[in-house]
Amino acid sequence: MREIRLHDTRSGRLRPLESRDPGRLGLYACGPTVYDRIHVGNARPFVVFALLKRFLEHEGYVVTLVENVTDVNDKIYDAARAQGRPSDGLAREMTAAYLEDTDRLGLGRPDAEPLASATIGPIVDLIQALIDGGHAYAAGGDVFFRVRSDPEYGSLSHRGLDDLDQGEGIEGAERKEDPLDFALWKGQKEGEDTAWDAPWGRGRPGWHIECSAMAEELLGVGFDVHGGGNDLTFPHHENEAAQTRSARGRELASIWFHNGMLQFAGEKMAKSVGNVTTLAGALDRWGRDALIMLFVSAHPRGPLVFSEATMAQAEASVRRVREAARRLRAGPSPPELAPLKERFFAALAEDFNTPAALAVVWDWIREANRRGGGTGDADLREMLAVLALDDLLDAAADDGAPDPEALELLARRQEARERRDFDAADRLRDELAERGWQVRDAADGPMLVRTR
Ligand SMILES: [Zn+2]
Repeated sequence: MREIRLHDTRSGRLRPLESRDPGRLGLYACGPTVYDRIHVGNARPFVVFALLKRFLEHEGYVVTLVENVTDVNDKIYDAARAQGRPSDGLAREMTAAYLEDTDRLGLGRPDAEPLASATIGPIVDLIQALIDGGHAYAAGGDVFFRVRSDPEYGSLSHRGLDDLDQGEGIEGAERKEDPLDFALWKGQKEGEDTAWDAPWGRGRPGWHIECSAMAEELLGVGFDVHGGGNDLTFPHHENEAAQTRSARGRELASIWFHNGMLQFAGEKMAKSVGNVTTLAGALDRWGRDALIMLFVSAHPRGPLVFSEATMAQAEASVRRVREAARRLRAGPSPPELAPLKERFFAALAEDFNTPAALAVVWDWIREANRRGGGTGDADLREMLAVLALDDLLDAAADDGAPDPEALELLARRQEARERRDFDAADRLRDELAERGWQVRDAADGPMLVRTR
C-alpha cells in the first residue's frame, strides 16, 4: 500500500496514516447542528470527508465514516421558540432537510449518522466515568468538566490555560469551580422542551460530550482520523479530546485533520438569484458538478473563496472535462499516460492535496489531446471517480438538449415557484432529477442540465 500522510493538528505536522486494524480505517467528522437549512459552508466537511473516504477505499482500505447530527442544542431551542413550535419537531424537520440537501451532492451517505438525542445512554455513562475519576463534578443540576484535572489540556489547539474562553458566557458561571471548566450536562431550564433523566438531575447533554460518546460507540477509542472544520478546533475538539483522554486514559483519535473555511465574497453573492448561501440554493443555481469542482480546486485545509467568479471558474472546469470526454473513447488508457495517474494518487496521498491532483487531471487531458482523438479514458475515469466527477465523462455522450417532457416539467416547476408552492416545485425538481435533469436557476431564468 502507498504511504498516506495527513496533517495532524495536534502534532502540527504531516503524519503517516497507520491503521489501527490492518486494512481498516475509522473516520469521524463533526456534522451540523440542525436548526435551519444548512449553509453551503457546512457542505465543505461533508464533501472533504466523503472524498477522503473514496480515496482511502481506492487505496484498498475498508473505511467506516461517521458524521453526527447535533439535534439537541441552544440554537435549536432558540430557533424553535422564535417559530413558536416544539424543538424536537424543528430538529426532525431540519435533519430531514440536511439529508435531502446533502443527498443532492451525489456522494452517498456516511456509514453512520448518529443523533445526539439517540445517544443519551452512552453520554450519561461517559459523564459518570468522568465524575468517578475526579475529572467532572455535578453542581446544581449541571455537570462540569474540571479542565485543570487534564494535564494535556490545550495540546490539540496549542493554547495555554491563560488565554481560554469556553464561550459559555455567564451560563452556569457561578456554579463552576473554575471559569475554565465547561458543561457536560445542562440542567433543564425554563423554556427548554427536551430533557432526559440522569443521576444528577433532568437535563440534556452539552455539545462536546456527544461527539466523544458517539465516536466511541461507533468507532471505539483510538480510531484513525477525526475531522471537521478548523473553527471547531477550540473549544469543541479540544474538549472532546480532553473528555475521552480523561475518562479512558487513551487519545480519542490518532490524527486530527481539519478542513479550512469557505469564505464569502459578500455583497455580490447576496444579490444573486435565490439564496445561494444555503447548500440547496447553491445546488439550484450551479448544480452539484460545479460545486464539487469548486471544493476540490482548493487544498482542503486552506480557505476557499465562494464567489460568482470562483463558481464561474468551477463551471468552466466542468465544461473542460466534458469537452475532453467527447474526444476520448471507452477503454484502457495508453501505458505512456500511466505515470500521470501515479502522480494524481501520489498527490492525494500527501495531505490529500486535491488541487495538485486536479492539476494532474488537466495534464492528462492536455496529453490525451496532443495524441489526437480516441484515447482510452480508463485512467481518467479512475482519477475522476475519486473526486466524484466521473459522471462528467458520460454526460458528454449526448448533445444535452432537453426532451419535450422535461421542458414541460420545468415549466410546471416555474409556475409552482411563482405561486410560492415550493413543495410542488421541489417534487417537480425531483421528478426531473429522476429523469436525469438538473435544474439550474441562472440569472436569465431556469435551465436544464443533463446529469447522466
Ligand atoms: Zn463534534
